[in-house]
Order: sequence, then structure tokens, then C-alpha cells
Amino acid sequence: MTIEVSVAELIAASAPDAVVADVAIVGGGLAGSLAAAVLARSGHQVVLIDRRAVYPEEFRVEKIAGQQLDILRRLGFVRELEAVACPYDRIINIRGGEVVDVSVGQAYGFRYADLVAMARRLLPDSSSFIVDRVTGVSCSDDVQELVLASGRRVRSRLVVLATGMAGVLGHDLGIKRRVLAERHSVSFGFTIAPSDDAPFAFQALTCYGDRASDGVDYLSLFPTSGGMRANLFMFRDPADPIMRELRRDTKATLLRLMPGLQPHLGDFRVVDQVQNWVMDLFAVEGHLQPGVVLIGDAFQTNCPAAGTGVSRLLVDVERLCTEYVPRWLETDGMGTEKIAQFYSDHAKIAADQRSLTLARYRQALTSNSDIRWNVQRRLHFLRRNLTHRVDRIRPGWIARLRGALRA
Ligand SMILES: Cc1cc2nc3c(=O)[nH]c(=O)nc-3n(C[C@H](O)[C@H](O)[C@H](O)COP(=O)(O)OP(=O)(O)OC[C@H]3O[C@@H](n4cnc5c(N)ncnc54)[C@H](O)[C@@H]3O)c2cc1C
Repeated sequence: MTIEVSVAELIAASAPDAVVADVAIVGGGLAGSLAAAVLARSGHQVVLIDRRAVYPEEFRVEKIAGQQLDILRRLGFVRELEAVACPYDRIINIRGGEVVDVSVGQAYGFRYADLVAMARRLLPDSSSFIVDRVTGVSCSDDVQELVLASGRRVRSRLVVLATGMAGVLGHDLGIKRRVLAERHSVSFGFTIAPSDDAPFAFQALTCYGDRASDGVDYLSLFPTSGGMRANLFMFRDPADPIMRELRRDTKATLLRLMPGLQPHLGDFRVVDQVQNWVMDLFAVEGHLQPGVVLIGDAFQTNCPAAGTGVSRLLVDVERLCTEYVPRWLETDGMGTEKIAQFYSDHAKIAADQRSLTLARYRQALTSNSDIRWNVQRRLHFLRRNLTHRVDRIRPGWIARLRGALRA
């Protein structure tokens, strides 16, 4: 007589006091929480572990649009996004006080903490979310083990590290970080309101910097449930005194850097604390190991101005959780030949590379003052403005021309 014993049962028998799952996900930010939801929805036993029960009000991505929405739609989460986000579909883009063009397309603004809370609520069973800090990880071809600060242990067939840019767990496995650009960009996040409390005259507005020496890429204003949110992205030495001025006297410093803002904004005030973030760009090395996969910022960080953090993490979640993990769990073992399939996925590699390329491009377009980039900057805005003017006179003409040229 043969008795069929599942791998999960074997794992459980080997450590009766451990929590057992098919997949243990460390880090319940956006990447880890969405990955847990997708896997749990398709019937896999998932444990999600985060050191905090509620994600704090920290400044991270605050808007989603375009292809990011397409992936969320494919994953089936757009209705849930709509419950915590403010929709907008028209952005006025200005530079030096003049309208460059108008972007039209569905977008949503939100507070990151609300988005993460929404993603965590997607887990069908709340007992699969453990609030604890993972202090140790060991991985092999078959069984993976996590040690938690409380002393509990989690055993699984696969570990997903979604620990974000500050996570250090990979060190246990010899996974290292390669810094690609130290102090690459500086970001500020805050909320503004009109002084007379009347609504602003726009749904959303982007104001680009004028001079390369200022290092201002753009200020993006868009609606969230907490009011009109402002994200300012810069490429400038974080030790420059202007950073302190932006934190202490935000409104006056903004108007000094971008005087063209005033007529579009009217009189306004900053209504909450200004959050400031200096971003290093890094990617991991030595990550191809049995039993473990890194996703989101734990794998590679992003330039906030490039707006590719969410695109990358959504590609990671979609490819890993709808394509690879279900297939890997069908057969025994979790060796590197399986893990390598995810890291060599074409869509993933393209998203990671695009993120780095855009990070470098935005920095050069904003702050490089040599002649080539000066010309490039002028041409960039001129091209956008001309396209916009033609589009106003003959709507759809440019899109049709582009289509014809592609065909
Ligand atoms: C200021 C700023 C602005 C940005 N703006 C944009 C933007 O406009 N567009 C865009 O696309 N991207 C943007 N990004 C990037 C985007 O926010 C990130 O790519 C995304 O939030 C990463 O999500 P994540 O789940 O990988 O990491 P996180 O959200 O950082 O989650 C990591 C989680 O892991 C947990 N954790 C870590 N270690 C442990 C441990 N040992 N045990 C248990 N739990 C642990 C943490 O508590 C945390 O909850 C921005 C980033 C910043 C910093």
C-alpha cells in the first residue's frame, strides 16, 4: 500500500511547532502584500510576515497610471484600488509659467499606507498575516526556514523576500547590494490647500524645473483622500542648504525655484509635515539561490522621479505569482533551476532595465548642463509643446501619424 504524503505535510512533520506554508513572504509592503493576495487567491497556502501591523505614514509612491493600471487590472485589483484612491484623468504640464502640454489618461492618487492596507486586506484569511520581525533565514533545495523575533519558526517550500530598500535579511544568505548611484535623487512629499479653501483650478498639475543648476526635475500635484498632494523630485546634492529651506519654508522656496507656479496655483499653504527622502540606487548580487526569490525594492531600488517603482514591483508580482510559483509548486524541490526562470523572465529584465535607464535619463535631462543636454532639454519640451498645439488644432492627427509610421 502506498500512502501519498504532500511536501507540506513532510515539512510540518519535521518541525511540529513551526508555522507551515507553501510560500512564506517576508515584508508586507505593496510588493509582498499583493504577491500574498495573488497566491492565496489561487489556492496556495501563504504566510505573510511584516514587523508592523500597520504600514506607517511614510512617503513612497502616491500615484498610479498607464501600464501600472493595466497590470493591476489583469490581476483583478482595480476595484479595490478605487476604494482607497482619488481618480483624475487630466494633468496640465507647465514650465516657466507656460503650458507645455496636457496629459490625458486615467490615474489615481492615494496615500501609500492606505494602498498597502488595501493590499493586506486582500488576503482571504487574516490568520495568514503574522506581525513579527524575521531575524533569520536559511534556504535549501527543499525546505526553507525563517526565524522570527518572537522565537516562532516558519517553514515553507519557497521564501519570497519583499523587504523593501531597508531590508537586510538577504545578508544571511550572502546576497549583497551593489550601489549603482549613491544619493541619486532627493524627493519631498507634502500636502497643500488653497488659502481661501476654494478648489484649485486644475485636477492635477506638473511643473518642470527651468534651470539645470536648480536640479529640479518636476513638482507633481494630484488629488488624494488627504487633499492635494505635492511630490517634488530633484537631482541635487542632499547637503545643499536648499534642502533645509525646502523643509523649513517650503512655499517660499518652491516659488523661488519655480516662479511660474504662482499664477496656476494662486495663494496656497502647506498643511502637513514635509517628508524628505534621499534615494540610493542599488541592485542585488548573489541572489540566485535555492528556495528564495527577491522582489520589489528588495531586488532593486528606483528613482522616484522616473515613476518606475510600482511598474517593476507589479511586473515582479504578476510574473512570479501567476506564471512561475504555481508551476514550481507542482513538482518537488525548489532548486536554482526553478528560481533562475524568474530572474531570466524577459518582462522582468525589461522592467528592471527600463527603470535604471529612465533614472539616468531623468537625472541628465534635469541637471546635466553640458551643451548636448542643454539642446536635448530644449528639444524635449519643444517637441511636446508642438505635439500639443497640433493636437489642439487637429485632434488625433499626431496619434494617427505615429501609427502610420509604426505600420
Ligand atoms: C519618496 C519616494 C517616492 C516614490 N515615488 C514613486 C513614484 O512616484 N512612482 C513609483 O512608481 N515609485 C515610487 N517610489 C518607489 C515605490 O514606492 C517603491 O518601489 C515601493 O513602495 C516598494 O515596495 P516594496 O513592497 O518593495 O517595499 P516596502 O513598501 O518598503 O515594503 C517593505 C516591507 O518589508 C517589511 N520588512 C522589512 N524587513 C523586515 C523583516 N526583517 N521582518 C519583517 N518585515 C520586514 C517592512 O516593514 C515593510 O513593510 C517612491 C519611493 C520613495 C522612497
